[in-house]
Amino acid sequence: MRLILLGPPGAGKGTQAQRLVQKYGIVQLSTGDMLRAAVAAETPIGLKAKDVMANGGLVSDDIVIGIISDRLDQEDARNGFILDGFPRTVPQAEALDRLLKEKGLRLDSVIELRVNEAVLLQRVETRIAEMQARGEAVRADDNAQALGKRLEAYRAQTEPLVHYYGDKRALATVDGMASIDEVTAQISRILEAQVQPKPKKAANAARKTAPAVKSPAKAKSAGKKGKKAATAKRPALRAKSKAKSRAGTRTAAKAKKAAKKVTKKAKKTAAKRRNRLTKRR
Ligand code: ADP
Repeated sequence: MRLILLGPPGAGKGTQAQRLVQKYGIVQLSTGDMLRAAVAAETPIGLKAKDVMANGGLVSDDIVIGIISDRLDQEDARNGFILDGFPRTVPQAEALDRLLKEKGLRLDSVIELRVNEAVLLQRVETRIAEMQARGEAVRADDNAQALGKRLEAYRAQTEPLVHYYGDKRALATVDGMASIDEVTAQISRILEAQVQPKPKKAANAARKTAPAVKSPAKAKSAGKKGKKAATAKRPALRAKSKAKSRAGTRTAAKAKKAAKKVTKKAKKTAAKRRNRLTKRR
């Protein structure tokens, strides 16, 4: 399972990500955590990122895209991952699309945690108090001034991703104001509906009880197609449209595969026929 959690600072992405890690056995890839580790280790990236982060600004796209690309290649990300804090800008989202394509991976879901901004400062204050109580060092950017900047950066640069993924029909929005458990339940419901394939039996039953009804327009165009297809490509065309009409019940991938198979067969038959014709001549 591969998903993105979107939401402003304090929306609860980290909390939910940890739960999803437990539930689905996938890894949480938080660019914030990775960058903080780089800052602590004083690596060249850390040194570059340190001041920008402390001020609540965004580290350059090149840097974060580089770290994510390397991280996706690691063994533990094979089973799936949750991206938390990445992508944070449209260019980062475009780069992620390219990366996933190169690596032959597909994103399953993008989940937006929507929260009322008024509660964010309060949540971050609580986080600071909890970290202090545990004796942990408080993040350099967990203060009112940097939080203001982080929110500004979110609104200007990250929120457009809601439309970016919304347009691709990959986005689901969850009410981040609900209790932690309720948010987890909402996310699980979305993931189960989006990610799990429908059981085969149910899909077959649905196909049997609801036969495809051709609209008059469609039937007409199918007739036209029939006339046009008096070529060796005919079986392929028929298979393609058949595959297309079944795509609602079978997966698109399966339909494509079936069409490909018949195309191959049709090509072979056409080649054979050509051979026969040339021999006769
Ligand atoms: P938040 O809790 O505000 O969501 P994170 O822990 O995800 O913050 O990130 C902390 C800081 O790290 C950000 O304010 C930013 O400076 C930097 N950062 C993290 N991820 C990215 C990213 N994808 N692009 C640019 N900067 C990033």
